[in-house]
Amino acid sequence: MASSTKSPPDAIVPNLVVITDDADVTLRVIKYTQRLKPGDDGNDKVKSITDFNVNTQVMIRNSEFFKTLLTGNFAEASQSVVTLKEHDPSAMQAIFCALHSQYEDWSASSCGLSITKQTLGLSVHSLCDVISSARHFLIEMVELDSWFKLWYEHGDNSKTDPKSMLYPTYQLNHAEGFAAATKKMVYHHTRIEETKNQQHKDLHLPPRVIQQLCAARGRLKTILSNQIWNHISGLLDGSCNCKEKTLFAFLHALKETGGFPVDQAAQRNPIAYVLHQLADFDDYFEAPAEAKGCSRCSTDWSSAMKTACAVVWKYFDGLCLDCMDHTQPKFADEHEDYWGHLERDMEWDNACRIDHGQATWYYSFMGRADARDKILKRVRLANPRTKFL
Ligand SMILES: [Zn+2]
Ligand SMILES: [Zn+2]
Repeated sequence: MASSTKSPPDAIVPNLVVITDDADVTLRVIKYTQRLKPGDDGNDKVKSITDFNVNTQVMIRNSEFFKTLLTGNFAEASQSVVTLKEHDPSAMQAIFCALHSQYEDWSASSCGLSITKQTLGLSVHSLCDVISSARHFLIEMVELDSWFKLWYEHGDNSKTDPKSMLYPTYQLNHAEGFAAATKKMVYHHTRIEETKNQQHKDLHLPPRVIQQLCAARGRLKTILSNQIWNHISGLLDGSCNCKEKTLFAFLHALKETGGFPVDQAAQRNPIAYVLHQLADFDDYFEAPAEAKGCSRCSTDWSSAMKTACAVVWKYFDGLCLDCMDHTQPKFADEHEDYWGHLERDMEWDNACRIDHGQATWYYSFMGRADARDKILKRVRLANPRTKFL
């Protein structure tokens, strides 16, 4: 919402933020205590007013919305103060920072440096406000990438809940952040879900991304179970007389760790928990005296279990935004990629911003929007009333 305002509502003093020394227009951002209903001027619900001094050219170069607003025939085009209602001032400051810093040398600008510093302290939850406002003003997300890179490097993201990082890292194209958040979800969470943002219920990942993370988690369970089964099966196939006692000792120790059976343990716990439990296998395993000297039964079961766990830990590197991108096929096209993965020894992270193996490629590839999605989107844009059965 935008309209011209000559004076702020009584008793609220606007904060002034100078974004650039080349400012020639003031964008007044008003935040309200609650969402405004149609027709409500909101004068009795003003929470804060912030005046941002910005450069018109920078704003119109980056946004069709501002181009129309500041250069069209609207009343706003001739105003020196233009009001933008119902946006978060911190989020808007981050957007102004992202746009202006591309056109000025901010490393030499004390104004720019101080603005950047303030926006880097933005909370992870405010990132949805940034994305939502950028969408509202028709600003391409790619214009925010460089700012977000700084934001990401500035904070200690190891402590941030990966659930809340999934959407912003995906939208703001941060390959490292998205891989880290998706990997953490798969290994360290029992339920794969993203944080529901009450203010922006329309902002969420495409469901296929969550589906792929669930699939990857399921695969980790299968790999771990198979690794353990191979040892059980080896004992069952043995011809020695001590195999029963060894098998019993092996299964008993597994059960005592609390990480076995894998499916049961992973039902209410993260995969990382199951792996940590199984790492204590050595504490519970006691080799039967009869097995001494038997080549099969005197396997180093403890290191066999450590190897099994290591295989699972190494399996998935998170989802790769570059491999999810249709426009960056590894071979001639995405169909070549699909069939190629079955037969070729591929460099799975070729031209990707992160290092990763095959599993990451596979789940990322499967998480791409398919061609049908694109066609439907195109048809809907052309004719919003089209219904599909
Ligand atoms: Zn034996
Ligand atoms: Zn990749």
